[in-house]
Amino acid sequence: MSVSATSRLEHVKKVFLKSYGCQMNVYDAERMADVLAPEGYSETPVMEEADLVVLNTCHIREKAAEKVYSELGRVKALKAARAATGLETQVVVAGCVAQAEGGEIIRRAPVVDVVVGPQSYHRLPVLLAKAGREPAVDTEFPIEDKFDHLPRPAADKIRSRGVSAFLTVQEGCDKFCTFCVVPYTRGAEMSRPVGKILDEARRLAAAGVRELTLIGQNVNAYHGEGPDGSDWSLGKLLEALAAVPDIVRLRYATSHPRDMDDDLIAAHRDLPGLMPFLHLPVQSGSDRILEAMNRKHTGDAYRRLVERVRAARPDIALSSDFIVGFPGETDQDFEDTMRLVSDVGFASAYFFKYSPRPGTPAAEMDLQVPDAVKAERLARLQELLDGQRRAFNRGTIGRTVDVLLERPGRHPGQLAGKSPYLQAVQIEAGAHRAGDLVRVRIVQAGSNSLFGERADLASDGLVVAA
Ligand code: SAM
Ligand code: SF4
Repeated sequence: MSVSATSRLEHVKKVFLKSYGCQMNVYDAERMADVLAPEGYSETPVMEEADLVVLNTCHIREKAAEKVYSELGRVKALKAARAATGLETQVVVAGCVAQAEGGEIIRRAPVVDVVVGPQSYHRLPVLLAKAGREPAVDTEFPIEDKFDHLPRPAADKIRSRGVSAFLTVQEGCDKFCTFCVVPYTRGAEMSRPVGKILDEARRLAAAGVRELTLIGQNVNAYHGEGPDGSDWSLGKLLEALAAVPDIVRLRYATSHPRDMDDDLIAAHRDLPGLMPFLHLPVQSGSDRILEAMNRKHTGDAYRRLVERVRAARPDIALSSDFIVGFPGETDQDFEDTMRLVSDVGFASAYFFKYSPRPGTPAAEMDLQVPDAVKAERLARLQELLDGQRRAFNRGTIGRTVDVLLERPGRHPGQLAGKSPYLQAVQIEAGAHRAGDLVRVRIVQAGSNSLFGERADLASDGLVVAA
């Protein structure tokens, strides 16, 4: 090897990126990797060998935020150990904790060199250079559009991230649910223009992506500028994306019940590529609590909405988010939530104990619910929802569904993918590869994934003659 090649190898810098929380953070962490690649950074899954450690944080619940500080304790020890061998390490805290706490993070954890909010991470190279002299904090909501400043990842980088990709179409939130920090940490609602989304989708498809999940804090509030200058709804955007060659599946998350409009419901009826799965958080089944949460819908309005969606796409699988123990929640309010769950029937769900967040109206409300009561309600809700999830999974046994194969399975020779209903499915791969869409007969349902056999094979493993 030549001397110059050796010295180039010696100068490869490594970045360790860790994301907490939602899909938006997963997307943002990939974009940070894209921003850092031209600066000579390649990603490593091993924190100990990283010259740069980035924690992309979540502020939605107290536990999520506290996790960051305990991780920073580990990073401090690692930075000291590397320094003892003459290696420098820079530490970045990005994401919603960065936005909410700003410079306070550096006061509490002086190991941190850079604090950067979710709207400013395209400035990371400048901030890292500045941090060589003094800690750098950027939690502005800049006028410039971050998306215009993000470099395009190379096709092989996109491919290495898999055949299913997230694509941010909308950011921020104007809804101000009284429990939620998102409007403060992610800022006002904004939608990306249709043309830019279509460009990104075509680039992803050309690099081998087959499934797109459109993401946004309030994705169905999407109202981006279309090529004709008018505002396009999410339904119209999905229709345009369904025509992008090689994109075989579309999904979107997370939606608000108030923004489920006719266009979007019709898209579930008309677009075969739009998967029959809808994550539609309801939070509570009690009208009193929904009002105190500022959700601006009732339990019955949610039930009627589900009926309309099911009329358009009868096999749609529903998922939701629930909060138990919101201030003032009585036993009766909680029973209303249990009744709504029984009435609707969910294929999957997320459920949380209410966590007071500084600066949100609910944190100041009287009648905070004791933790023991929250825990008891959570356990009951979890039992009901887990039962519904298991019943839904058992209900797919014997059915033949399309599975998009995504990655190696649990055992050698297996591949894992997803059913249309977002269930993980394992199969014997045979000649198939990641990216193939295969017909699979579901034969067994485990607690976390389904097991299937390719529908072109008889049960003894022979290819069925056409
Ligand atoms: N925009 C989505 C919506 O309105 O349904 C939700 C986005 S939020 C990032 C994800 C979930 O976190 C919420 O649906 C809610 O259930 C939960 N969450 C938000 N704030 C919370 C809090 N203070 N305590 C407990 N759970 C919370
Ligand atoms: Fe938070 Fe969702 Fe409510 Fe916006 S709509 S404030 S993101 S829970």
